[in-house]
Order: sequence, then C-alpha cells, then structure tokens
Amino acid sequence: MNNYKQYFPIFKNNPKLVYLDSAASTQKPKQVIDRIKTFYEEEYSNIHRGLYGLSEAATENYENARQVVANFLGVATNQIVFTRNTTESLNLIAKTWGRANLRIGDEVLITEMEHHSNLVPWQEICRDSGARLRYLKVDPNTGQLNSADIQSKISKKTKILSITAASNVLGTINDLETILRRFKNISKKGIAVGDFAQALAHLPINLEYFDFIAFSGHKIYGPDGIGVLWGKDLDALPHFLVGGGNIESVSQKLSTYQVSPWKFEAGTPNIAGALGLSEAIKFIQSIGIEKIRDHEKQLTKYALAKLATIPHLSIYGPKKITDRIGVIAFNIAQIHAHDVAQILADQNIAVRAGHHCAQPLHSTLGIPGSCRLSFGIYNDEKDVDRLIAGLKKVIKIF
Ligand code: PMP
Repeated sequence: MNNYKQYFPIFKNNPKLVYLDSAASTQKPKQVIDRIKTFYEEEYSNIHRGLYGLSEAATENYENARQVVANFLGVATNQIVFTRNTTESLNLIAKTWGRANLRIGDEVLITEMEHHSNLVPWQEICRDSGARLRYLKVDPNTGQLNSADIQSKISKKTKILSITAASNVLGTINDLETILRRFKNISKKGIAVGDFAQALAHLPINLEYFDFIAFSGHKIYGPDGIGVLWGKDLDALPHFLVGGGNIESVSQKLSTYQVSPWKFEAGTPNIAGALGLSEAIKFIQSIGIEKIRDHEKQLTKYALAKLATIPHLSIYGPKKITDRIGVIAFNIAQIHAHDVAQILADQNIAVRAGHHCAQPLHSTLGIPGSCRLSFGIYNDEKDVDRLIAGLKKVIKIF
C-alpha cells in the first residue's frame, strides 16, 4: 500500500492520531495548505474589481480554480458556482427553483437516508409552497432503497427529486442511474438534484441525469468555507443572495444581475478557499479516483471483516462491499455510542458518535444514534488494527 499519510502534515504533527472521521471532514494535503499560505503571503487581493496587478492575478487564479472544478466534473465553467458548502448549494436550489416552481399538488421526493442539509431546505420550501415532501424508504436491514417504493413514488407530480449519491451514515451507494432514468422518463419538467458531499472524493461519478449537484471543499481534501453548486442551466434560476458582486447595474429603483455563474456569487467570495479547492482536486486527480476507490474499498472490506469479530457489535448498511463507500456505522449492545467514541478518543482514535445529521434515518433504523468510522485516502490497515484494539478495550471497560 502506498503511504498516502506522507502528503498530510497533520500526521507528522500528530503521529499517534488514528483519524477515522473523513466523512465529517478530510485532512488537508500539504499542497492545499501551501496554496492558501502563498495566496495570503504573496498574492493577496480582492478579485473582480482592482485594475492593479495583484487583483488581476487573483481574479485570474479564482476563475482558473472554477475551470479546474469544471474540468474535474466534465462540465462547462459557467455551470459552476462557488458557495460556502453543500448546505448552501442545496438551499440555493430550494429557495430559487423551488420557490419559483413549486405549487400545491406538486411533490418533492427525497430519501430517508438524507443528511439534514438535503432534507430541511425541502421541508421549508414545501411548507411555504404547499407542495408535499415524500421519502423513499430505506430498508433497515440492507440500508438500501427499495425498487417497488421507487416505482410507486416517482410520478408526474414529482417536481424535484433530491438524493444523496452516498449515505454519510450507512455508506450506501445509491443506484442513481436507475432512479433518475425513471424520474426523467416520467417527470418531464422536474429537476434532479444530487448531494455529492460523500461521493466526490471517493467514487467516479456520472452527472448525465442530474440538473444540479452540490458538494463541499472540506470533504474532498480542500478547505472549509468553500462549496460548489453545479447546474446544467443556471440562468433558468432566479437570483439568490443579492448585493455587491453579482449585479450588472443598480439604480434607485431597479437592479439588473450578471449572467451565471457570477449572478449567484454576491459579495466577496472565499478566494483562498477556491484556490485551495482547486489544489485539492489536483491532488485527487494526481492519484486518480479509481485508485482511491480501490484503496478505500479494500480497506472497508478489511474493516468489516475485523469488526465482525467483535462481540455484540452490529453494523448498519449494505453487506456487499461494492454497494458501500468507506463509511461504517455501528453500535455495541448495551454501550452508548458516545461512550464508545470517548474511550476511543482517549486512545487517540477519532470517530464520530451521534445521529450524524441524519435523525430520520436513525428513526428508521430504530436507534437513537450510532458510532461512525469513515476513511480517507490516508487510512491504512494499521489504523483499522488500532481501532479494533481500541474497541476491545471499550468492551473490557464495560
Ligand atoms: N450531505 C451529506 C451527505 C453530508 O455528509 C454532509 C456533511 N456531513 C452534508 C450534506 C453537509 O455538508 P456541509 O456541512 O459541508 O454543508
């Protein structure tokens, strides 16, 4: 196995750390950190306004970062909007397209495995518009959607289908192609929205049937405070936030707006964030997404086999390795998830405990919370071995 940890200064500075929380945020490779540092130390200026050299260069670098994102996704540059995160990108669609198009009688269809960021914005817009929010069921045993339910719930009334590419709790990889093909055949005017927060750094993706997707920089080895909204036809959306930066002209009575993507980038954007994000994408490309997927798949297989040896430990989500990303939620009978995570934390092992911003999913599973470990490219079998030793200690203590 390649030693990917060498690219991440955090591990040099915390040699005992076992970091198993990449689904929350990934660690940052040196090249991302260096890019941000160089921008602030040597190149800093606001963009799009100054006529002086630093500002012109910063503008060019910011727009080049947009190009890097577009190339990575295989889409056009003017389809890429920089936002703060996945949450903001999804809110943007709900509050623009949703507000303009949803009516009483319409339906918004999501799944029971959605993160709150792909759920609460739809709840709000359904409440405001009178549209109905429906959920595709998750089978608590397999952690997967059910095809009969998909058949019955996608109808002409479905105006928005918004779905995660991969679950941040169960690790489930959804069969997007089958679901979206059905949706596009039936709902001619509906939009398909993808939450790619957990997918982009871990899986090859296909945007063919989507109208919009959202993801965050901090989950793909980039900085926090920068996210992306990709839209096939952004100009079809009404504007979202307004003010400086995204207008064409303003008079006392009326304002007109820039074309996309700048129409959606009101105010000074996260310039350093965009530069860092483009460096993170270059990092992913330098390894190759197929290789990343392969590495994490092998590691997940190894972890699932080792976890199966721990008594009283239940694992949620798909059984087949090809159906999951490197995210594993589990509980140990009679031991609270927070206690498990705390005892692991005492051994320098970082996992997460709680509902992972997916409370409806935990209701479906019939549990208040779970422990979750999640892999990044830097994890290896030694990390899993340390986790297993840590879990044995948890059991011993209780
Ligand atoms: N969707 C999914 C599937 C996620 O895992 C997360 C983050 N845990 C989000 C959305 C929200 O991302 P952010 O906090 O960066 O907006």
